[in-house]
Amino acid sequence: MDLGMWRSTFKKAAKDLQRGDTWNLEFDSNIDPRCLQPGWKEYIRRTSAWFKCSLCRRDWSSDRVMVVFHMRLEGSTGTVKVRRLRQSCNRCSDARMEDPTVEMENLRNLMESLVMKIGMNCYNETNPKGGEYVQKKPDNTRPHEPAHCEGCKLGFCTNE
Ligand SMILES: [Zn+2]
Ligand SMILES: [Zn+2]
Repeated sequence: MDLGMWRSTFKKAAKDLQRGDTWNLEFDSNIDPRCLQPGWKEYIRRTSAWFKCSLCRRDWSSDRVMVVFHMRLEGSTGTVKVRRLRQSCNRCSDARMEDPTVEMENLRNLMESLVMKIGMNCYNETNPKGGEYVQKKPDNTRPHEPAHCEGCKLGFCTNE
């Protein structure tokens, strides 16, 4: 369900890339930020998102949600694999890791930054806008809790 929104937002942003190439986006929770397959390029981006515990139904937002993109252009087909780092509820003792929900405005920014990176990595473009898009921060952000953050556990959650 979420994937559909990511895909359509990505497609819209990727219009700027038009060169007759086809770009596809897929979720892949197995990509490893420390282990890039040959031919792939990486982009790691921090964003804001919210989470909902599937046990107690409590939700929380975080401005420290890491999203890892691996991209490759092969012939005229481009692929982007996305891994969204999860967080878990800090009240439930056997809480599951939950996927983040990125709101439309931030998702659009995220996809525009991604497309800019694709231009640089796969089409040798220079960055025309000179920076990344600014993300909107959520209002009630809970303090970051490494014990409940997948990115921290894997050692690549950043505060930058
Ligand atoms: Zn919970
Ligand atoms: Zn973290």
